[in-house]
Amino acid sequence: MSNTNQNLSQTAQDERNAIAEHGRKMLHQGLTKGTGGNISALIDGEYMAISPSGMAYEEIEADDVPVLDFSHEQLLAEKQPSSEHSMHMQVYRQRDDVGGVVHNHSPYATTFATLNEPIPASHYLIAFAGAEVPVASYETYGTEALGNIAVETLGEEYNACLLQNHGVLAVGDDVASAFETALMVEYCAQIQYQAMAVGEPTIIPDGEVERLQSKFEGYGQNG
Ligand code: 13P
Ligand code: ZN
Repeated sequence: MSNTNQNLSQTAQDERNAIAEHGRKMLHQGLTKGTGGNISALIDGEYMAISPSGMAYEEIEADDVPVLDFSHEQLLAEKQPSSEHSMHMQVYRQRDDVGGVVHNHSPYATTFATLNEPIPASHYLIAFAGAEVPVASYETYGTEALGNIAVETLGEEYNACLLQNHGVLAVGDDVASAFETALMVEYCAQIQYQAMAVGEPTIIPDGEVERLQSKFEGYGQNG
């Protein structure tokens, strides 16, 4: 391994660990089944660590997590990177506020993705994602076209979108915050689904989501 790679491996190890750890969390918290979904982190603004393709989450160790540069050249790990590496990289290219990306197939959110219906603001925790969770039109998994439509749908204002007939894409400052948003998207989708099953869900008024987002910044121990 060259010196560059040795330095990179030191700075990258925390992110590779976070990816392995959150992969297990994604499975245990019911956000994915089997080897579905993938997780990435930006390293030093120049490299991306991303979960290996098609590998059981229980088995992924930090050293299995590939690290690529932005020309998609692989610098660390021998495993094949996630088939969605292009979509993840497109997010980092478009959004300089993003340091972590989570993609999954969580069941309630994916139900809305399959209906091609956004998740509306029927629960206040939608504010983790934005004023709603919009849907990116269907494209084949693992293609640049899927990445293009996903980043177009996220724009600058959303931290999550649905991928039609597929799943969820969530972004954040780091892996932990993208994961938290993915969890909230699934929770909001479940509440909306349940509310629709027995009545007509009410929607949070316009402007309230912005208020919630600034309130979240001082939530808990951050106040
Ligand atoms: P990978 O196992 O290649 O990450 O693919 C899973 C997936 O969810 C494709 O969209
Ligand atoms: Zn997928």
